[in-house]
Amino acid sequence: MNRKPNESFLDYKKRIIDSKSASFCGAKWYNATIWLGSGMTTSCHHPPAHAIGLEEVTKNYKAIHNTPHKKEMRRMMQKGEKPTECEYCWKIEDINQNNVSDRVFKTQIYTDEALNEAFKKNFSEDVNLKTLEIAFDRNCNFACSYCNANFSTKWASDILNNGSYTNLTSDGAGHFSSEAIETEPFKSTESNPYIEAFWKWWPELSETLQEIRITGGEPLLNKNTWKFFDFFEQHHGSGDMVFAINSNLGSDDVYIQKLIDKSKFVKRLRLFTSCEAADKYAEYIRDGLNYEIWKSNLKKVLSEAKLESCNIMMTINALCLFSITEFLDQVLEMKSAYPKGYLNISVNILRFPSFQSVLTLPLDIRTAKSVELKNWLLRNQESKFLSDFEIESLNRLVEYLLTPDDSPHHKTSPIEARKKDFKSFYTQYDNRRRKNFAAVFPDELVSWYKSI
Ligand code: SF4
Repeated sequence: MNRKPNESFLDYKKRIIDSKSASFCGAKWYNATIWLGSGMTTSCHHPPAHAIGLEEVTKNYKAIHNTPHKKEMRRMMQKGEKPTECEYCWKIEDINQNNVSDRVFKTQIYTDEALNEAFKKNFSEDVNLKTLEIAFDRNCNFACSYCNANFSTKWASDILNNGSYTNLTSDGAGHFSSEAIETEPFKSTESNPYIEAFWKWWPELSETLQEIRITGGEPLLNKNTWKFFDFFEQHHGSGDMVFAINSNLGSDDVYIQKLIDKSKFVKRLRLFTSCEAADKYAEYIRDGLNYEIWKSNLKKVLSEAKLESCNIMMTINALCLFSITEFLDQVLEMKSAYPKGYLNISVNILRFPSFQSVLTLPLDIRTAKSVELKNWLLRNQESKFLSDFEIESLNRLVEYLLTPDDSPHHKTSPIEARKKDFKSFYTQYDNRRRKNFAAVFPDELVSWYKSI
């Protein structure tokens, strides 16, 4: 954070961002998500990913981030023009000029000097990253219902063995229609020029990065993940850089133990794992998960690895509401065994595919779940183990659950199409994954499901 003490986000925006241009955003220079397996990149989660030119990468390894496309976006931002791909931010600001959009949050993590340098630099020059999320491949042992073949080989196998999901017409249809073979254009990670380019850049990048986060697939299954630990071991640590890993913590014991053993070579290791429901509900939503093993691996890592913090990323989908308070009880119990801030949750509301959104459920069910969650918060808001941010995020979910049916998000399908796809998808999911929706979920949901 580089805001001055007591400086509001809006004042920061006026001082650092507006004084440069009407559309400046530090993320275009210093942040990236790069999918090395497929050779795609984007500057943050909002703009669509674009392809990294193979020819450019063979000439210049920094082109895995500094693509001609991003350079053009930087030129536009230096001139105060608004790139269309950043519409997420412009929309928020257009509603009210005092609204604070993501570009402010994503810019304030860099120093004023670094931002001045970016703004003054010729837009065609390459920039070294400061924050990076990277995926080496999509190899994954899970095939969660809200994921797809772009991010999971197990999902790709489902489509390969059983064909596309059929009878889906809402915005989610495309997610479940192909094996996404284009995400694996190379036979192995060894012959992948994007990965080669990354490792050529790494010695220099390791000097400038504030944070690198490895995602996947499941990163513990990829040998490139372990190369970082070897690097840190050989270089006597990782300096002040945050090294973060997203892991489903569902891989074999040998990988969990390796993570624990290697963690001692990293000064600032942060672990991110995912779950949002308890027991059989979690296992239904996240195909491949054994809930007890996940919990036991989490506890083992929390107590034996050298971690700076651990975050459980909750993906709030319609089905998690039926055990979310039980899940939160269990998390709170785990949190209480460690210092405040060591184990945290983040509440990420799933919007797409919209048929899996909580807003596809009928209002009476959502209202009941909103009340349950609100009561849980009332019972636990004094807990010294819940942070203000966690309470605020859960309160936002309490409100969100009461959103009327007729106000879907931009680009979401109408409620009738979402309901139909909800039934159609989970019927096929049951058949393909040997699951049974009606046997897992409570009567109130099952009778609505059967009525569709
Ligand atoms: S302007 Fe907004 S959408 Fe564009 S890169 Fe910055 S944070 Fe992302």
